[in-house]
Amino acid sequence: MDLKKFDKKVANKKAGLKKFLKKLDKIVPENMEDLVQEVDKTVWEDIDCLACANCCKTMTPTYNRKDIRRIADHFGMKPKQFKEKWLYKDKNGDWMNVSTPCQFLQEDHKCSIYEIRPDDCAGFPHHDKKDFDLYNDTYAQNVTRCPATFELVSRLKKRVEKEYEW
Ligand code: SF4
Ligand code: SF4
Repeated sequence: MDLKKFDKKVANKKAGLKKFLKKLDKIVPENMEDLVQEVDKTVWEDIDCLACANCCKTMTPTYNRKDIRRIADHFGMKPKQFKEKWLYKDKNGDWMNVSTPCQFLQEDHKCSIYEIRPDDCAGFPHHDKKDFDLYNDTYAQNVTRCPATFELVSRLKKRVEKEYEW
């Protein structure tokens, strides 16, 4: 995955994609759920996360209490020690990584704690959310970081503009 090329594509297209997502806040085409599923399938035929890892390189997951306990246990640490070593609390009270790339990302783009990774990582990039339009703000942020979300929103935009009176 050429992330420099991706950044250039994002610079050219992000305003249009964000505008599309904003419009989706107000008007949701019929069969949106089916359309998202259908288009998302095509996205994953073209995108390989192991050739990318941009989320782990440039973003931080949010750690919930269970994540912290589970991962701390794995390292034989107390949750407090784990937080002191790797996390900070942001202004919303959420626990985040102090540094990026994530400390658990390996050189081969695999996650060294994959089986016990934070729930937030396991759900990313959240394309399977039932009410897609409720996550427009999340997708609007993630189109600039995640090539899969960028493709999903770009392809959805094309389909919706072509097929719906919108
Ligand atoms: S915990 Fe694993 S999946 Fe989550 S950001 Fe870190 S390396 Fe990526
Ligand atoms: S989820 Fe998105 S940003 Fe993360 S590795 Fe996959 S394509 Fe890249």
